[in-house]
Amino acid sequence: MAAKLPVSNVEFDKLRLDDARALLGRDTALALPPEAQSATQYLQSVIDGLCELSLKDPLTGLSNRRHFRAVLDRTIDMVARSGDPALLLMLDIDHFKKVNDTYGHPAGDTVLQAIAKALAKCVRPMDTVARYGGEEFAVILPNCHAYFGGTIAERIRQTMQDMPIAIAAGTEISVTVSIGGAYAPEWVRSTAALWTERADVQLYRAKSEGRNRVFLDTQQEIFVSAEEKNMLFGHLALGDPAWIEGIPGETPGGSAMQKVN
Ligand code: GH3
Ligand code: MG
Ligand code: MG
Repeated sequence: MAAKLPVSNVEFDKLRLDDARALLGRDTALALPPEAQSATQYLQSVIDGLCELSLKDPLTGLSNRRHFRAVLDRTIDMVARSGDPALLLMLDIDHFKKVNDTYGHPAGDTVLQAIAKALAKCVRPMDTVARYGGEEFAVILPNCHAYFGGTIAERIRQTMQDMPIAIAAGTEISVTVSIGGAYAPEWVRSTAALWTERADVQLYRAKSEGRNRVFLDTQQEIFVSAEEKNMLFGHLALGDPAWIEGIPGETPGGSAMQKVN
């Protein structure tokens, strides 16, 4: 079987519609790149490249938000099946706007790339590291026990704080990150949105309590939203709204977080 062309051999911004038509029509007059051994092989490399593009963030090479969502859903299924704990970490660079304002947008891009690379090195190959949004990242750590979660998150925070980033010849800066995390509840099939929201609450805490810190919603202290409680016990309450009202501290339809004992 012919060796696959590396994805990088296909420059998508230079791919012309005529080329695609010629490939589909098996046009032998098509001028293939010198590395391509056949039109089929070239087409395969184009398909591989497009698949890769649809999963990756172009600036950092990390998983994009779409891929992150797919992995999160898969992880929820896995946790529900196996009961193995999984941790979601959300990271946000502190005062990143100031980096852009002081050193310019390209320098900001360099910082994002450096953080992405360092973040990927802090975790295991089985973990998924994604660029969640502008200067926000997410890490999904399947099979991560409660006593490791805090250590990993703290290692990430420390690594970023200690890392010099060269943004121009002779100019190095460093940035800090705030981290929030939450474990997927093992006892209920949660939703990606609820899990992300829990980690986000902790990230917000890390920001509001001074930045450059880690807050985790630990397994021993699982907080359950009204929505999740409804998913668990809702059927018991059907036709009996008093049942929900009977739960101490519960507000029907409210979203107050409560501790499960
Ligand atoms: P905080 O500590 O509260 O998170 O403050 P912050 O300045 O990091 O947060 P804020 O949301 O005010 O600013 C985020 C900035 O990230 C603003 C936006 O221009 C910048 N940003 C988003 N995406 C990119 C990008 O792809 N490249 C660069 N260079 N900057 C980006
Ligand atoms: Mg942000
Ligand atoms: Mg920020």
